[in-house]
Amino acid sequence: MDFTLPEELLLLQRSVRAFVEEKLLPHAETIEKTDAIPRAVIDAMAGMGLFGIGFPEEVGGQGFGKLGYCVAVEQLARANASLWNVIGGSAGLCGTAIDIGGLDGLRSRYLPDLLSAKKIGAYGLSEPGAGSDAGGLKTTARRDGDGYVIDGAKTFITNAPIADLFTVFATLDRAAGSKAITAFVVERDTPGLEIGPNDEKMGLHGSTTAQLSFHEMRVPADRRIGADGDGFKIALRTLDLGRLGLAAHAVGAAQHLLEASVAYAKARVQFGKPIAVHQAIQWLLADAAVGIHGARLMVYDAASRADRGERITDRAAMTKLYATELLGRVADAAVQVHGGMGYMRELWIERAYRDARIYRIYEGTSEIQRVVIAAGLLADA
Ligand SMILES: Cc1cc2nc3c(=O)[nH]c(=O)nc-3n(C[C@H](O)[C@H](O)[C@H](O)COP(=O)(O)OP(=O)(O)OC[C@H]3O[C@@H](n4cnc5c(N)ncnc54)[C@H](O)[C@@H]3O)c2cc1C
Repeated sequence: MDFTLPEELLLLQRSVRAFVEEKLLPHAETIEKTDAIPRAVIDAMAGMGLFGIGFPEEVGGQGFGKLGYCVAVEQLARANASLWNVIGGSAGLCGTAIDIGGLDGLRSRYLPDLLSAKKIGAYGLSEPGAGSDAGGLKTTARRDGDGYVIDGAKTFITNAPIADLFTVFATLDRAAGSKAITAFVVERDTPGLEIGPNDEKMGLHGSTTAQLSFHEMRVPADRRIGADGDGFKIALRTLDLGRLGLAAHAVGAAQHLLEASVAYAKARVQFGKPIAVHQAIQWLLADAAVGIHGARLMVYDAASRADRGERITDRAAMTKLYATELLGRVADAAVQVHGGMGYMRELWIERAYRDARIYRIYEGTSEIQRVVIAAGLLADA
C-alpha cells in the first residue's frame, strides 16, 4: 500500500496552493467585510479549472477524479471558507446530482456550463420542516401533461441568491415517504420560483444562502433527474461526495490553522521565552497534528475508493464526522495559542474560528453522521 500522492496530484497541489496565495488571499478581507465575492474571483477560480476538477473530461471536467478534487479543496481551504462553498454548492452538489442521476441529454445540457462556472448552481433539499430528516420533505410535484407542477419551499440554500440553476427535490406523494421523492433541474427564470434575501450568518461571509419558494412552478418533464421516485437516492449519493469534499476542506483549514499556531508559538515571547517552550502549548499543537494526519488519510482513502467506483456512504460519514469535529478543536486551540490576538478581527484566526462552526451542521450534522455510521454497522441486526 502506497500512501504517497501520484506526481500529477502533487503538481496540482502545488499549483492550487500558488493560485490561492496569489489570486485569492488578497481578496480575503474584502470578502469578509462586504459579505460578497466579486464575480472576477469566481471567474478566476473557474479559469483555474476548480469547478470541474473532480469531474470527467467528457462532461467538461478536468478529470482529476475525487482524489484530485480533495487535494485541490484542501489547498483552497487556505482562503476564505466561502470561496469553496460557491464551488461545493454549484459543481459539488448541484452538478453531482445531475451527473449521478441525469440522462446524457441533461448532463450535456447543464454540466459543461456548471463546470466552467458560466452558470452557478444550487442544491435545494432542506426545508423549514425537513433538515436532518430530509426524507420527510413536504414540497410536492404533481404530474401535469408534459411536465410537473411544484409547490413548496426550501431553506438555507447555498448560492441561491446568485444561482442560475437549482436541483430541487420534491415528493410525488407525501404519504409514500422518501420513495416518492423526485429530483428536477429548475432554471432561475422559471415562473413561480421566488428567491428570498441573502441570510445573515455567523460566518462564511461571502457565501450566500436564501430560501426558495415555489408557487405553481411548472417544470418540463425533460428536466427531471432520473426517474420518478429516484430523487432521495440521488440526494444521498450526492451527499456522500459532498461530505467527502467538506472533510477535505476541514483538513485544509485545520492544517492552515496549525501552521499559523506553530509560527505564532515560536514568535510570541512571554516570561522571557517563546510560548512554544511550554508543554501546555506543545500539546495543543501535537494533538492538532495527530488529528490532521488521521483525517487526511481518511479523506484520501474514501476519495480513492470513490474513484474505484465503490459506494462510500459509511466512509464519507466517518470522514466528515472526524474531520469536521477535528477542525472545531483545532480552531479552538488556534484561538487559545494566539491569546487575545486570536479573538481580534485584525487576524484571520477569528474568522476561521467562526467559519469552522458550520462544518458540523450542514450536509448532515455530526449527530446524523453517527446515525448513518450506526445504520451501516447494524444493517443486518
Ligand atoms: C450555511 C448553511 C448552508 C446550507 N446549505 C444548504 C444547501 O445548499 N442545500 C440544502 O439542501 N441545505 C443546506 N443547508 C441546510 C443544512 O443541511 C441543515 O441545516 C442541516 O442538515 C440540519 O438541519 P436543521 O438545520 O433543520 O437542523 P435539525 O434537523 O432541526 O436539527 C437540530 C438538532 O437536532 C439534532 N438531531 C436531529 N435529528 C436527530 C437524530 N435523529 N438524532 C440525533 N440528533 C438529531 C441535529 O443533529 C441538530 O443538532 C445549509 C445550512 C446552513 C446553515
